[in-house]
Amino acid sequence: MPELPEVETVRGGLNQYTVGKKIIGAESYHPRAIKPGSIAPLQAVIGAKIQAVNRRGKFLWLRLDREYALVAHLGMSGQLLVQPASAPQQSHLRAKLDLAGGFASKQSDQIRFIDQRTFGWLSIEEYAGDVPTSVRHIAVDPFEANFDIKKVVNKIKSKKCAIKTAILNQEILSGIGNIYADEALWRARVHPEIICEDLSEVEIKNIITSAKRVMKSAIKSGGTSFDEQYKNVNGESGYFSRSLKVYGREGQRCARCGGAIHRIAFANRSSHFCPCCQR
Ligand SMILES: [Zn+2]
Repeated sequence: MPELPEVETVRGGLNQYTVGKKIIGAESYHPRAIKPGSIAPLQAVIGAKIQAVNRRGKFLWLRLDREYALVAHLGMSGQLLVQPASAPQQSHLRAKLDLAGGFASKQSDQIRFIDQRTFGWLSIEEYAGDVPTSVRHIAVDPFEANFDIKKVVNKIKSKKCAIKTAILNQEILSGIGNIYADEALWRARVHPEIICEDLSEVEIKNIITSAKRVMKSAIKSGGTSFDEQYKNVNGESGYFSRSLKVYGREGQRCARCGGAIHRIAFANRSSHFCPCCQR
């Protein structure tokens, strides 16, 4: 599932290839491609110019010269590719936008939304302050200038849930999913099931700092393409999976202490950790 580093990589690509372009066509091909809460059909963006591509946590949006934004969430397997209109159509193509004037040639480019598992969506939304309406309840992510680490530490410290549950809660801090939660907790040497209020403020701060650090490295590697679903806008995989220390490494040796990495069930998914050095 794309997490902050993967979504940020896609944002950077869209920003590079689409800003300043006018949308001259829009079509959707699947009933779930457009979120039910969208205030208009996808065709409402025809004629709009893309001014910027923004992100908070795992949410992306195109800022248009309009009162509304085009929001995208990649869900489990969503991809946003920028391709020439002549490129062969992908089998899981859910929607496309035609852009005026290609970069390499006069041929027009398309933003293609491809999503095998159909948990991703696009949506036309008004703004609630600086962000589109569906992003309103999403907490600031650790890369935003107004991220208040002290406030987030205090919020987590007051929780009676497992630390992993807290750092995955997008209303406490956003952008972290299963992969980077496991990686951050390994780096901070904290067991995923420890109850938040039993951790010290210093420990919680260290977990958040570790999460930011690991996500920063992942952005540099173009993200993690663990299940081969995630691609950047050019259709390329990221290579951070090579740098993962615990996620997907059950039974392998811990790079720090040599112990065996364990995998336990966690909320329909798994937690990967080293029981020797994460306590
Ligand atoms: Zn270890």
